[in-house]
Amino acid sequence: MTSLLIRNARPMGGETADILIRDGRVAAIGPDLQAEGVPEEQAGGRIAIPGLVDTHTHVDKGLIGYPWYVNEVGPRLIDKIDNERRVKRELALDPHIQSMRHVLQCLGYGTTLVRTHVDIDTEQGLAALEGVVETRRALAGQVEIEIVAFPQSGLLRRPGTVELIDAAMSAGADLVGGLDPCGMDRDPKGHLDAIFAIAEKHGKGIDIHLHEGGEMGAFSMDLIFERIRAHDMRGKVAVSHAFCLGMPDWNASQALIDQCAELDVPILTTAPPSREVPALKRLLAAGVRFGAGVDGFRDTWGPYGNGDMLERAMLLGMRNNLRRDDEVAMALDVCTTGGALAMDRADHALVVGGRGDVVLAEGESLADAVVSHAPRALVVTAGRVVARNGASLTVAP
Ligand SMILES: [Zn+2]
Repeated sequence: MTSLLIRNARPMGGETADILIRDGRVAAIGPDLQAEGVPEEQAGGRIAIPGLVDTHTHVDKGLIGYPWYVNEVGPRLIDKIDNERRVKRELALDPHIQSMRHVLQCLGYGTTLVRTHVDIDTEQGLAALEGVVETRRALAGQVEIEIVAFPQSGLLRRPGTVELIDAAMSAGADLVGGLDPCGMDRDPKGHLDAIFAIAEKHGKGIDIHLHEGGEMGAFSMDLIFERIRAHDMRGKVAVSHAFCLGMPDWNASQALIDQCAELDVPILTTAPPSREVPALKRLLAAGVRFGAGVDGFRDTWGPYGNGDMLERAMLLGMRNNLRRDDEVAMALDVCTTGGALAMDRADHALVVGGRGDVVLAEGESLADAVVSHAPRALVVTAGRVVARNGASLTVAP
C-alpha cells in the first residue's frame, strides 16, 4: 500500500486530470492536485483505466521460456489432457517458475487481478498448487492471484482426485473447480455432488469449466442450479465458458441466462472465435455478472494468445459484433471493473475510493486503446509502479 500522483492522465478517455493514490486507494481525481512528498509519474495525456482483470486463466502449465511447442495433438478433449500430462512429465515443468513467467508477462500488459485454475491430479498431486501459492507469495502487492483447485484430468474417473481437491482447499486454494460433469466423468450427479460437498465443507465458492454445449450443457447447468439452491450457495458458484448459453435456441438459452441472474451465477468467458459463446449484451441486460479471461497460452492446447487482456477486450468485441465506441467500452469494462465484480471485488474501479490499480494505455479513445492495444506505458498496483513500457519491473526467472 503506497501513494502516487499520476499527472496529466485521461481517466477512462475523458478530460485530462491528475490521479492521486493514497495508501493504495484512489484519493482524488482532478486538475492540478497537490500532494506534498508523494512521488509523481507523468502520464503525458495517456488514457488511464483500472487494472485489467483476468478471470480465467491457467498459470501453472504454460511453456513460456521453452522453444515453440509444435502442436500435433489429437482432436478430442481427452487427447489434449493426456498429452499435457505427458509433456509436463517429460519436461519436468516447474509450476512455480512457469507461473512466475505467466503472471509477470500479464502484469506487463496491466493485469493486476487474476483467477487461475491449477491442475490437481493423481500424477502430480498438489505440486502445481504449491508452485502457484509460492508465486502468489512472491508477487504479493503487485498482483492478486485467486486459485481454483481444478480436476483437469477428471474427478471420478481417476480415483483419489476427490481427496486431493479436498486437500488442496486446506493448502491455499480459494475455490473448488469442476469440469464437464457429463462429458468428462460421465457421472454428472456424482461429479457435482462431490465438488459441492467439498465447497460446503470448506466454506468456499466454486468455479466450473463447462464446455458442454446445447442440450447437454443445459442439463448440466440445471443440475448446478439445483445444487446452488440446495446448498444455499447463491452468488458463490461461477461457470466458466458456459457455451450452452450461446446456443442458437434463444428461448432455451434465455431461460438459462435468467436462472444465472436469479441465482447470481457469474459467467466467465474467453470469447473463443471457434465456439458458440454467451452473448455479452444478453448477459449484461439480464444483470448477470460477467468476466473474461485469456485462458492458457503458450501451452500444449493451442498456439494462440499472449496474456493481454486489452487484446482480449478486442476479441470479446469482435466475437459479439460490437462496433460502436460505447459497445467497445462495454467489452473493456468486462475485462476490468465488470470482471472484478464477477470475482466479488466491488471496489476495482477508477473512482475516488476505488482500488489504486491504474494502467496507462495508448489511444485517442477507449475504443482506440482496445483496438490498438499498444504496450502499456505504466502499470500501478495499489499505488505502486509494477511495470513500465510493457514489461514488469520484477524480472521473471
Ligand atoms: Zn480453462
